[in-house]
Amino acid sequence: MPCAHTGGRLLFAGAPRRHRVSGPDPHLAERLRLFQQLRAAQEPRAGTGDGVGDQPPPGTPIRIALPGGSRLPGRALQTTPFQVATQLGGGLAEVALVARVNGTLQDLDWPLESDTDLELLGFSTPEGREAFWRSSACVLGAVAEQFYGATFCSAKATEDGFFCDVHMGDRTVQRGDLPALEDACAAFARAGHRFERLEATREQLAQLFKHNTFQLQQIEEEVTSPTATVYRCGPLLQLCRGPLLRHTGLIAALRVLTSSAAFWRGVRGHQSLQRVTAVAFPSAQQLAAWQQARDEAALRDHRRIGQEQELFFFHELSPGSCFFLPRGAHIYNTLIEFIRSEYRARGFCEVVTPNVFSPRLWQRSGHWQHYAPHIFSVAAGAETLSLKPMNCPAHCLMFAHRPRSWRELPLRWADFGVLHRNEPPGTLTGLTRLRRFQQDDAHIFCTLEQLEGEMDACLDFIRTVYAALGFSFRLALATRPAGFLGDPETWDRAEQQLERSLRTFGQPWELSPGDGAFYGPKIDIQIRDALGRQHQCGTIQLDFQMPERFQLEYASATGGAARPVLIHRAVLGSVERMVAVLAESCGGRWPLWLSPLQVIVIPQAPELEDYAREVQAVLRGGGMVADLDRDTGATLARKIRRAQLAHYNFQLVVGRRERDRGTVSVRTRDNRRLGERDLRRVLQRLRELRDSRVPDAEERF
Ligand code: ZN
Repeated sequence: MPCAHTGGRLLFAGAPRRHRVSGPDPHLAERLRLFQQLRAAQEPRAGTGDGVGDQPPPGTPIRIALPGGSRLPGRALQTTPFQVATQLGGGLAEVALVARVNGTLQDLDWPLESDTDLELLGFSTPEGREAFWRSSACVLGAVAEQFYGATFCSAKATEDGFFCDVHMGDRTVQRGDLPALEDACAAFARAGHRFERLEATREQLAQLFKHNTFQLQQIEEEVTSPTATVYRCGPLLQLCRGPLLRHTGLIAALRVLTSSAAFWRGVRGHQSLQRVTAVAFPSAQQLAAWQQARDEAALRDHRRIGQEQELFFFHELSPGSCFFLPRGAHIYNTLIEFIRSEYRARGFCEVVTPNVFSPRLWQRSGHWQHYAPHIFSVAAGAETLSLKPMNCPAHCLMFAHRPRSWRELPLRWADFGVLHRNEPPGTLTGLTRLRRFQQDDAHIFCTLEQLEGEMDACLDFIRTVYAALGFSFRLALATRPAGFLGDPETWDRAEQQLERSLRTFGQPWELSPGDGAFYGPKIDIQIRDALGRQHQCGTIQLDFQMPERFQLEYASATGGAARPVLIHRAVLGSVERMVAVLAESCGGRWPLWLSPLQVIVIPQAPELEDYAREVQAVLRGGGMVADLDRDTGATLARKIRRAQLAHYNFQLVVGRRERDRGTVSVRTRDNRRLGERDLRRVLQRLRELRDSRVPDAEERF
């Protein structure tokens, strides 16, 4: 059961002494007293006070509607969502974390004000999980304050856990401290501290946080309304919108993961902070399941697969750029060749553009501000040049290079040119963030009338490619952001156009209001891999700005000059990143058509090596990737086992019988024995399966 809060005393005795550098905060008791006073003054709202505004007076009967259509009676400003959960029974009170009340999220202990549509949300919902992790971050913050005498700065729930930033002068959180910090968090959580909510005025906020310059600054910059919400958890006061859990006892398992340096507000040069990341769950079993999934993911980490299969490597002498070895290059080039074949079928032409531009070109493009931090500049004699971070300005110059007629449109130009972006060293992670990469980038110049057809074709392109790669995907229409460029009518028209295309496409899509680029609306595409993880890869963006900036024109059918619309589109996105996503998604078990480990020929005895070599030559001559096992010391069983572990799609075993009859014995990656087959027919079948890009060639052989 949750206990009453514990005033200002230290909440655990287990923390090593050396950490308590500054000891308990002498003003803590005073601060908490003030919080309780203010909260007591606010209590009547939830009890006996008069109704405010449109609210019915306390105790008035209200109707509570639950999902599924059932209804319950309640009393205004008295009945809480938690009481409803308890009343409903079935263990709901144990799993509900926060409530959605008439569409708004709130704490379970906050009384209902009037007739209510009520939804109780547990850990399995994104909202419940976020509140759970936000609350867990308070626990981590409270403990870090006491453990280190640190000052709590901010905390945030993320996609996969949460983090807490604290200020502790020039001291740092040591790796070796993490287990003790985790134990202290567990003890703090077990004590069942309540999360208490207070609506405070700006003056009250200033009083409550006078000890904490970070939160004072946050209040100064972010609180625009007359009041803001403060939560107390044990000794910690935090400016937080909520909702939070009822008490810390619900946090049954918490794992502290990492500590690193951070800056206040993420700005280099601001006060340096320590960031501690962690994850927490309502039960120990959930933590165990999470750990297992994490171990599995580590096994599938593309950097590990890249090393084991000799696909690629990185070198400290050239950070942020990948060295693709022959097998990795096979995957890389096969992906590009796949896109090229789609381009040929869909009326795209490939162009080649320079690798360095003058910075004046970026300025002309109107994207200078956005890209400037990513541009590598190179001194070239009297001039400065910059490495290319995107292709669009070059394609605009090519469009403008001679007069264009409506008869030429739509122009579809594709470019696999190498791009360079200056990413900070700390953010470089394997193939997912690089300084050197290639995109399957293309730009379509068309008339407004052609836009719909082009959009439909782009969406169809995406469907074809992702189907072959085995990904399902989600679409979102991102509309104009604050500070968009151009006139609202063009935007309206374009957004409606995209919406129409999405409807024609027929797959469900979402709206992301305000998420568009400043130069035009876009369709964001999130793929879902075999592990259920989401990745943002492809995109389709409309651009009204760049044609304007480059004054692009074509002679229209009616004789006048008209401005084309520009579509930026990529399906794979960064080819490097797609290799990483695919490697992790298939766990190194590549589909035949992409596989750098398609076939291995295994001779049964040393004297059969000549025939094995012949078989390999026939397969290679037919365009297959074929290796030969030349280890004369290993037994056949061991060679087969080794080939399976290496994830070769097919093993072709040759003995005396096979040599005499010009055949091979076929085994698959899953050790299915398909028996003796004619070599030429095997080659023919392998080529068919490769060229049709089936995901399960081993089954279909
Ligand atoms: Zn572009």
